[in-house]
Amino acid sequence: MLQSKERLPKNPRPKEWLASELSQQYIADYKPFNFVDGEGVRCSLYVSGCKFACPGCYNKAAQNFHYGVPYTQDLEDAIIKDLGESYCQGLTLLGGEPFLNTQVCIKLVKRIRQEFGHSKDVWSWSGYRWDELLRDSDDKLELLSLIDVLVDDRFMLAKKDLTLQFRGSSNQRIINVPASLKAGRIVLWDRLLK
Ligand code: SF4
Repeated sequence: MLQSKERLPKNPRPKEWLASELSQQYIADYKPFNFVDGEGVRCSLYVSGCKFACPGCYNKAAQNFHYGVPYTQDLEDAIIKDLGESYCQGLTLLGGEPFLNTQVCIKLVKRIRQEFGHSKDVWSWSGYRWDELLRDSDDKLELLSLIDVLVDDRFMLAKKDLTLQFRGSSNQRIINVPASLKAGRIVLWDRLLK
């Protein structure tokens, strides 16, 4: 059956949506030490604001750029402290849309690299596809260059599959970011089970 246009996520033109115009630097939630947002024990930061408007979005409240509380230095210090636990593998950015909140995400990931080098990994979810991010604004490319793993693309209700690892729909991919940037093509995360 054909889907009507209203039942599909939005498709931005390159650089149509910019964090510098949209982000309020608000945080919807912070969850330390969880097991579901990527590999291993992770600290998850949910940033506020997303314009893709995917039908069936798992976190609709966080589509609002004013949802939640402002990002603060105290929260950043708490995240760094939590990441310092030896059993914690890394940080996960999700939302909302991390690539429309680059002011917060770039600052935090740079601090993580400063404090921990690459001994902690950084995952990010995004509604943008890999090829869209490569054609978009400099801040999006900068964030991409700082992370290890990207789960890309919108959530598509028609392709929903709850058996997939770390993804909600089968169009989404788990991408090894440094390897993909180096190769000039998408290299999938090599511990993908399904
Ligand atoms: S990209 Fe993610 S956060 Fe944004 S509307 Fe779609 S499912 Fe929701």
